[in-house]
Amino acid sequence: MKRFLLVIVGCLALLAGVLVFNTSRSMNRVAVRDGGKVAAVTVDSAGAIARFAKALTYPTISWDPGTQPVDSAAFRGLQAHLAESFPLVHKTLKHEVINHLSLLYTWPGTDPTRAPVVLMGHQDVVPVIPGTESQWQQQPFSGAVKDGFVWGRGALDDKLTVLATLEAIETLIRDGYKPRHTVYLAFGHDEEIGGEQGAQVLRDTLVARGLKEAALVLDEGGAIADGAMLGVTGKVALIGVSEKGFLSLELTMKGKGGHSSTPPPHTAIGQIASVIEKIEAAPFPATLDGPTRWMLDAVAPTMPFGKRLAMANLWLFGPLVEKAMLAQPQSAAMLRTTTAVTMVSGGVKTNVLPIDAKAVVNFRIRPGETMASVTDRVRGIVNDTNVAIRDLGFHTEPSPVSDREGAGFKALAKSVREEFGASGVTVAPYLVIGGTDARYWSGRSTQTFRFMGAPIEADGMTRVHGTNERAPLGSYVSSVRYLVRLVRNTDEIP
Ligand SMILES: [Zn+2]
Repeated sequence: MKRFLLVIVGCLALLAGVLVFNTSRSMNRVAVRDGGKVAAVTVDSAGAIARFAKALTYPTISWDPGTQPVDSAAFRGLQAHLAESFPLVHKTLKHEVINHLSLLYTWPGTDPTRAPVVLMGHQDVVPVIPGTESQWQQQPFSGAVKDGFVWGRGALDDKLTVLATLEAIETLIRDGYKPRHTVYLAFGHDEEIGGEQGAQVLRDTLVARGLKEAALVLDEGGAIADGAMLGVTGKVALIGVSEKGFLSLELTMKGKGGHSSTPPPHTAIGQIASVIEKIEAAPFPATLDGPTRWMLDAVAPTMPFGKRLAMANLWLFGPLVEKAMLAQPQSAAMLRTTTAVTMVSGGVKTNVLPIDAKAVVNFRIRPGETMASVTDRVRGIVNDTNVAIRDLGFHTEPSPVSDREGAGFKALAKSVREEFGASGVTVAPYLVIGGTDARYWSGRSTQTFRFMGAPIEADGMTRVHGTNERAPLGSYVSSVRYLVRLVRNTDEIP
């Protein structure tokens, strides 16, 4: 009995030792982040903010196809404003309008043997949600600069990126810099409705001109967020290394129709309701791997001891961490393919049995699964030959996962640390749960990333596509400086 107790105590001591060892190892990784001397970057802050604010006055709205015509004059107004605001860019770079409204700038590199760098952004914005106009503290297309913010639709998504990129290039030309890689600026005009006319045509244009592979592709996606949302101290630079796929399936239950005075026990509507119940009862499996695992590994060292202990020992605490993440829709979406029943219809008259009933289910597919594997799984769950399952067409596979060890990622991380301070910000790869134009490029570069180098407010993501979209003035100026650093740091990419 005594020996048995000794074995138990020994095992516990060993376990404690392993847990603490792993935890301290994760702690040591913090110290690896180097500081070093960083060159100053001088930006014309007041001018930059004025140019950015004015860009928000052009209502370059992407309406859902078939609802309202594109306001070409708004796009041309924005483009005239860009030409006037950035004279050195327009004198030094070749600039073209592609497919009516998209913009392509070419800055030839000094070393033509190197693969090019592609900096993306989109000129279009989403409409203001009808009925919310009066809730805006500043009019959404006024470009107001007030209380330390630039206000308006596009202030975060995505005119910030377009303007900051041009401002950075203007600054670099002013300072006499010449890039080693050829740099393309590719600004689409329809990201908010899928990007097929903009980003896709821009990519096809460059591929037709001979582009085989890009050294780095950078688009919107992550940002510099308050670490509190991940339970860590300081700021976290979330760099998107992949984005989820998108699939909508329509499920149609066939009924018999007839008079409602002689109904069967379940009409087509009742039957589709039970199909919906089955689908919701069988969520996709969650796994703590890939980009989400990398994100946790990156932020773990800055967590308080208890959480760090769990993160450093996921072999033991993985199920607990998973459970905690699944409790919040935002973090749950990073672990699994999500299921959302978004539409339901059936029946035409109060006293007529429905001849069919339909439901639409939207899936956001995580890397590792495919549109085909999702459809197969749904077919298996439904398991009913009376239900027709149809892909509604607008769909994409999850993007390949970019290489977080590559030279492009390193250039991004270095630029973030230079601008925002090595001790103040943790760089973390992550999975983008929405969609961006970058997906058109993921087959052309293993260094395709989704990241806006600007600190956002804690509630910033609710302002994107919502009301009172705004960017802190300091965030805008530091994002310009960050982009200046990034372009300089691309010289180190082979
Ligand atoms: Zn966007």
